Amino acid sequence: ATKMAKSKFEYVRTYESEDYLLPNCWIVVRIDGKAFHKFSKKHDFEKPNDPRALHLMNRAASSVLNEYKDILIAYGQSDEYSFVFRKDTTLYNRRKTKITTYINSLFSASYVYFWREYFKDAKLKYPPCFDSRVILYPTDETLRDYLSWRQADCHINNLYNTTFWALVLKGGLTNAEAEQRLCGTLSSDKNEILFSEFQTNYNNEPQMYKKGTILLKKKIMHPFKNDKHKIVVLPLHEDLIQDDFWVKNSELLKL
Ligand code: ATP
Ligand code: ATP
Ligand code: MG
Ligand code: MG
Ligand code: MG
Ligand code: MG
Repeated sequence: ATKMAKSKFEYVRTYESEDYLLPNCWIVVRIDGKAFHKFSKKHDFEKPNDPRALHLMNRAASSVLNEYKDILIAYGQSDEYSFVFRKDTTLYNRRKTKITTYINSLFSASYVYFWREYFKDAKLKYPPCFDSRVILYPTDETLRDYLSWRQADCHINNLYNTTFWALVLKGGLTNAEAEQRLCGTLSSDKNEILFSEFQTNYNNEPQMYKKGTILLKKKIMHPFKNDKHKIVVLPLHEDLIQDDFWVKNSELLKL
């Protein structure tokens, strides 16, 4: 950039505050769609899970992972995505606002940019927007508990929504009646309603709906150039609450 002479207005910069994130902590950025209950209605999302919308979320998140090398893992479900940065990242000198606003705007722009690939002729009716927050986790345990919390949330909501929409779409109940019917029920009651009234074994529902999507980076051989590696973003729909996942991907917590 060209060097400008300082103007007498320059002092207003001192009103800006510093926002460096604490060193040596896991940095998590979570984005979440604004009023997606309404957005999903306006765009005729299939209930309870529209696979087009989930794949579009995954596509937008992948473009964020491809752009930011220091994101190790991401987890998404419904209208939200969490991005986990290496503990020792020096990205933008760990400036909180830079990190959170760039992640959010790249995600949001990608969501719009790739809309047509998933929704085809179903037009985007208005610009969607997302909120974004940054959370610091000081230990591996708290980071794991964070991701477990989001995946448990996915499970609880999906079991509820799957039962709710079975009652409405197949059982002929109104939304209010279905809500009333599910009030105070346990997980086991919902599984039982699905099984005995709708011949649905919840365990056989698609993994992406039950577990959400984990995006991991894996090194593979370059398809055309010998002895060259390529980093690819791999989507997984598995449990991350149990130790298994962390043993299988043991590099994650070492980084
Ligand atoms: P940074 O990511 O640090 O903001 P930058 O390349 O965006 O880097 P800025 O200082 O924000 O740098 O400057 C924006 C640059 O974008 C300008 O220097 C100019 O080159 C270009 N630019 C922006 N708007 C226009 C425009 N309307 N017409 C031509 N060039 C433009
Ligand atoms: P807020 O602005 O507070 O986040 P919200 O309406 O976005 O409000 P959330 O708690 O974020 O509320 O829930 C997102 C809602 O978006 C879900 O309840 C569901 O109705 C809808 N939704 C998101 N993804 C899908 C999908 N793939 N298929 C169907 N519906 C979806
Ligand atoms: Mg600029
Ligand atoms: Mg919310
Ligand atoms: Mg939302
Ligand atoms: Mg949400």
